[in-house]
This record gives sequence, structure tokens and C-alpha cells, in this order.
Amino acid sequence: MPELSKRTAGFTDSVIRRMTRIANKYNAVNLSQGFPDFDPPQELKDALKTVAGGSLHQYAITWGAQNFREALARKQSKFMGTEIDPETQIVVTCGSTEAMIAAMLTVVNPGDKVVVFSPFYENYGADAILSGAEPIYVHLNPPHFNFDVEELEAAFKQHPKALILCNPSNPSGKVFSRAELQIIADFAIKYDTFVITDEVYEHIVYEPYEHVYFASLPGVADRTISCSSLSKTYSITGWRLGYAIAPPRITENIRKVHDFLTVGAAAPLQEAAVTALNFGDDYYRDLQAHYAAKRDFFLQGLKKLGLKHTVPQGAYYIMADISEFGVTDDLKFCEWLAQEIGVAAVPCSSFFKNNVNHLIRFHFAKNIETLAEALKRLERLQSIARPEW
Ligand code: GLN
Repeated sequence: MPELSKRTAGFTDSVIRRMTRIANKYNAVNLSQGFPDFDPPQELKDALKTVAGGSLHQYAITWGAQNFREALARKQSKFMGTEIDPETQIVVTCGSTEAMIAAMLTVVNPGDKVVVFSPFYENYGADAILSGAEPIYVHLNPPHFNFDVEELEAAFKQHPKALILCNPSNPSGKVFSRAELQIIADFAIKYDTFVITDEVYEHIVYEPYEHVYFASLPGVADRTISCSSLSKTYSITGWRLGYAIAPPRITENIRKVHDFLTVGAAAPLQEAAVTALNFGDDYYRDLQAHYAAKRDFFLQGLKKLGLKHTVPQGAYYIMADISEFGVTDDLKFCEWLAQEIGVAAVPCSSFFKNNVNHLIRFHFAKNIETLAEALKRLERLQSIARPEW
């Protein structure tokens, strides 16, 4: 038989998504892959019902339905503080996953370097492989996940084509300050680099932190591709609606990549989602409060369990330290945790460039009752007999 492509030879499947399958197998409380167990707003479900009974069941315009782009442009112009043109600056994609890979394929040539902060969301590793890019990793150093400016400049001195910025950051929960973003912006201009952002947690930020859109900093909009999605903001991860916002010159080519990859995001779902894009400011305030309550509840629970953990400034992930269990293989530990304790987490070795085996990631986008059940199950961690790792 002929060999499969070299491109995919080094690929593993996504460990995040694999953990969901493991959670299902053992009927574990799934705090691994980040998605809610609660419903989207009722208006949104009603809108979908109405759309399903109508006649919008064929392709939308490949780069996004007109009314969806108009509603998105209005919402993002307000939050980002810059005027976004729905005609020339938006590509609607199948989740921000597609937005990110389409952006990478648009700006990166095989062999180009791309700066990635570590820990990083695991898709960026795959995006680099698919686009032929070589990642240069810059460390985010715990506990505050700050970067070292000299290390960052050393990365820029290697003339990367792009930098990937996940803000608020998965899995660290870091929210980059305006001053930090300005440092990145200055280097991006000085070294003539694109910046591809992943801002899917833009509306999930905890006081006193605030989300600053990278593209809103002076002088960088022309080199920034802002990717995000509706998944987390409106609790519709299964709808797969994402987007890239960029200057017209870049958008034009992202649209072509997107067209040949997927043709387009689901037309009826775009139509229904316009309802969400038109929500007022109170929706976003309530969302923050909703997640802040979950965060506090889960953090308190972990504290009671005596597990050392990170405190997120944004997004909905917590990294817990499992060193005390003498683990050398965090993946094995997570499989054991799902099977024996009944809670699924993601082994953080999938998020770090260096060899990290003592951290696991929980997410808390779940009903309080679900989180309470997970915490109750985790109590057994201290008493249960552990295997020889
Ligand atoms: N962002 C989510 C996570 O990190 C998952 C997204 C996905 O699986 N596409 O768990």
C-alpha cells in the first residue's frame, strides 16, 4: 500500500477531544473538553426552531450570510472600538478552529516561523504542521503567566511570519494586559510580523481584568487577523460558527482558503445566530457574572481538596498540580481519574512545549450541580489506593 502523507505522520488526535470519548466510556463527569452542559439562551433556541421551519436550507454566501455579517460587524465594532466593514473584513467560518487554520494558510509559507506562547491550545501545533510552519515557543511563566520581554524579542529576531495570540488564554487563564499587548504590538511592527489572535473567551473575563482586543491597539489593525467564535459566548459549541476579522487585503485571501476548505458555515445556523448577535449589553454582563460564580465555586472546592491550582483571570480553565501523586505520565493519570474517580480532565502535557507531566486541566463551564458532583468524586483522591504509575 502507498504511504500516507508525511504531513499527517507526526499527528496525534486531539487529546482534548479524546478525553471526551474516554469520559463518555466511563460515564465520568466531563471537565476535559471545554463546553457547557447547560443550554443556550431560550431566544436562540426559538430562533433556530423558526429558521428550521423556513426555507433557508441551501448554501449561504461562502464568506458568511449578509445579515450575519452585518450583525457581527455591529457587535464587534462596538466591543472592539474600531469600525468593521461587513463587506470586506469578515469571513464566517466553521468555528474559530477553521478561522485559525485558514488564517495560517493565508499568511504562512512552508518553512516560515510562527511564534506561539507556551502553554498553548493544542490546535496551534496542528495548525503549524498543516501549514508547514515552524513554531518558536515563548514561555508564559507561572504563576501569573507573564512572558520575558527578552525571550519574546529573541523570538522576533528570528523573523517569524506571524505570532499566535490566545487572549484570554487557554489553558493558563491569562488575560494579557494592555501594556503586554503593546509590547507585542511594538515588536510586530518593528519585525514586520502578522498577529493571528484567538479571542474566543473575549466575553469571559473576571474582575478586575479586562479584555483588550489586540486589533484595537494603535497601528496594528493592518497586520492583525482577529479570530473568534460564537461557541463560548452563546453556549453553542455544536453550531460551529466562528469568524476571522481582518483588513480587506488579508480577508480577500482568507475567503478563498475558507471557500475551498469548507464552502461555508451552516446557513440556517447563521440565520438563527443573528438573534444572539443582537443581544444587548446586559447579556454580556450576565454571562460574566454567571462564569464568575462558577469559577469561585470550583476554586473553593479545589481549595478544600487541598489541590494546588492556577487562578484564571479569564476563560474557564484551571490547571491543577498532581505532583503529590507521584505521577510521571499525566495522560495515564487522566485515564485513571476518569475510570476510577469518575472525573475527566485534560493532561497538560498536550499544552506545553517542554516536558510537563504534573498538571491537569479542568474546565468549569458546567452547572453548579455538575461541578459539585465532580468535587465530591474528587474527594476520593486522597483515600483511594493508587496504582504504580
Ligand atoms: N476550546 C475547547 C477546549 O480547550 C475545545 C474546543 C474544541 O474541542 N474544538 O477544551
